[in-house]
Amino acid sequence: MSDSRDPLSGSFDPRQHEELARLDPQSYAQAVREVAEFGIYLLDEQGLIQSWNHGASNITGYSEAEVLGQPFAALFTAAAVADKLPQQTLEFARANRHHRDEQARRRKSGEPLMALCTLDAIRDDSGRLLGYVEVFSDITQQKEREAALYQRATRDALTGLANRGHFTEMASLEIVRARRFNDPLSVALLDLDHFKRVNDSYGHDAGDLALITFAKVCQEMTRKIDLVGRIGGEEVAILLPRANKQPAYEMLQRLRLRLMECPVRTNDGKEFGLTVSIGLASLNPDIRDLRELLRNADAALYRAKREGRNRIEAWFE
Ligand code: GH3
Ligand code: MG
Ligand code: MG
Repeated sequence: MSDSRDPLSGSFDPRQHEELARLDPQSYAQAVREVAEFGIYLLDEQGLIQSWNHGASNITGYSEAEVLGQPFAALFTAAAVADKLPQQTLEFARANRHHRDEQARRRKSGEPLMALCTLDAIRDDSGRLLGYVEVFSDITQQKEREAALYQRATRDALTGLANRGHFTEMASLEIVRARRFNDPLSVALLDLDHFKRVNDSYGHDAGDLALITFAKVCQEMTRKIDLVGRIGGEEVAILLPRANKQPAYEMLQRLRLRLMECPVRTNDGKEFGLTVSIGLASLNPDIRDLRELLRNADAALYRAKREGRNRIEAWFE
C-alpha cells in the first residue's frame, strides 16, 4: 500500500530521510527498520553505527548486533579503507551535507558488493553536527551486467583486445585531440607472419592459442595509454598517443623481439614460435584522420612483408 507519508513510498528522496532523521533519530530508525530493499542506518557524529535496518542486514549479511558501535569504515573493503575512502566520504558529507556515490562495500560472505550509497549529514538548527544517515542499495548485479555488456560490445572475445569498432572509435577521437593540441601520435599495424602455416601445421586451436599469445605480448609491451585492437584475423593495430616515430619505433622493436621469445605450446605438447611484421605511421600536418593514417601504416606493412617479414617499416613523410 502506498502512503504519501511513508518515507520509502514512490520516488526516493534522500533529503526526506535526512529531515526525518534530524527531527527524531530514534523514531526514524524504528520506522525504516522493516524496509528490506534498502539498507538504512544512522551514524553518530564520530561515524559510529547507531542503527541497522533489515535491508542493511539482507544486503551485507551483517546482523545489527555485529555492526552496532562499529565505525563506518567497517562497512568498506580493505582496499577502500587503505585508500581512505570511508574517511573522505564522511568528510565530504560533513562539508557538503550530502554525498552520493557507487562504492565497493564489504559483505560478510566476502563476496563483492557494489552499493549505491547516499550519505547525508544531520545537523541541528544551530548547525551542530548530530550524525549521519545513509541509504544504500545493492547494485552489484546491475554493475556486472553493465560490465559484461560493455565488454561484449567493445572487446574481441578470443583475445580480449579492443575490437575493430572500439579501436576505430577511440583512435578517431584521439587523433582529433592530437591534431587540436599538436601532439605527436603514431599508429602501427601488426600482422603475424605466415600464419596460415600455423593453422595448417598445428590446427586451428593452436592458431587461436598463438593469437592469444600475440595479444598478450602486445598488451605487455605497450603503455597504459596505448590502445591495442584486433582489427582482423591475425592483424592488430596499436594506437600510440604522444609518441612520434622514434619512440614508437623503439617500442615496437622491443615488442617484435619479445614475441620471438614467447613460444606457443599446443595442448598436445608441440611448440612453435611466432614472428610479426609491422607497419608504422605517425601523425603529420597532412594527415587528417584515422583512415589516412591506417592507409600509410598499411603501405609500410606491405613493404615489411615484401622485404622479408619479421621487421618494422615506417611510413616516410
Ligand atoms: P603473411 O606473412 O603474408 O601475413 O602470411 P599469412 O599466412 O599470415 O597470410 P594471411 O594474412 O593471408 O593469413 C591469415 C590467416 O589467419 C588466414 C586465416 O586462416 C587465419 N586466421 C584468421 N583469423 C583466425 C582465427 O581467429 N583463428 C585462427 N586459428 N586463424 C585465423
Ligand atoms: Mg593478415
Ligand atoms: Mg599474416
